[in-house]
Amino acid sequence: MLIRDHKLYLDEQTAVPFKDTPNQGGEITPEYLVMHFTKGASAESSVSWLQNPTAKASAHLVIGRDGGVTQLVDFNHKAWHAGTSQWQGRRGLNGFSIGIELDNYGDLVGSPGQWRTAWGKAVDDNQVAQLPHKFDNKLRAWQVYSEAQLATAREVGALLMSTYQLKDVMGHDDIAPGRKLDPGPAFPMASFRAALLGREQDEHDLYRTTTALNIRTGPGTEHAKLPVSPLPEGTRLEILAEQGVWKQVDVLDTVQGEMDVVGWVHGRYLSRQA
Ligand SMILES: [Zn+2]
Repeated sequence: MLIRDHKLYLDEQTAVPFKDTPNQGGEITPEYLVMHFTKGASAESSVSWLQNPTAKASAHLVIGRDGGVTQLVDFNHKAWHAGTSQWQGRRGLNGFSIGIELDNYGDLVGSPGQWRTAWGKAVDDNQVAQLPHKFDNKLRAWQVYSEAQLATAREVGALLMSTYQLKDVMGHDDIAPGRKLDPGPAFPMASFRAALLGREQDEHDLYRTTTALNIRTGPGTEHAKLPVSPLPEGTRLEILAEQGVWKQVDVLDTVQGEMDVVGWVHGRYLSRQA
């Protein structure tokens, strides 16, 4: 990918689909990246809504669950993604940030086996992570993000950071706490920030295996072990999602020559790293 004239390109010849929107303001100099979830039914429906004048909302990019990207606003123009917001004493993040929306149902209602979106669509358990939000610690159910979507977000995010020399990446929940929950705890913000900023992992998100531990394709012993199984004792992990006692983890260490392995482990054999 590359950025030319404040537009995103897949390669030298191919710009990503651009869907113009009236929901935008004048020129900005972006300083930050802000991550969101759409809480919508699909990337297409969210893009369409963000083009609708009645929405009075937009974002620079929408990333679908298949990893596809749509651009709505040039990166040097104001998109309307942050609303009432502040960061380090400065208000109105739309005036100095780039906003990325991730296609995601957001927080869900119901109970295991019966999860539903806010608008009543059934969501399969294997799409759901139950996690507390960092601001109120309340346990909620969230739709998990897809790996393809996160991979695109990392690639685009890194490109935006380097192109515009952005200072930091935040969630909408960071800049509008108490008002917004997105992108929520199903989004691996600590590793995402670390990847974009090249900093150490936030320690509160770091775990280590307390024994040699099998890592599997799904949450349960009925799922196959991954080739890197078992992870050695002391392997560093970040938890991406959980289902009961099973945790979906991103392996931060290189194991048997494999980097960035994602799989499921039994949560009893993890300790939070001090
Ligand atoms: Zn948002």
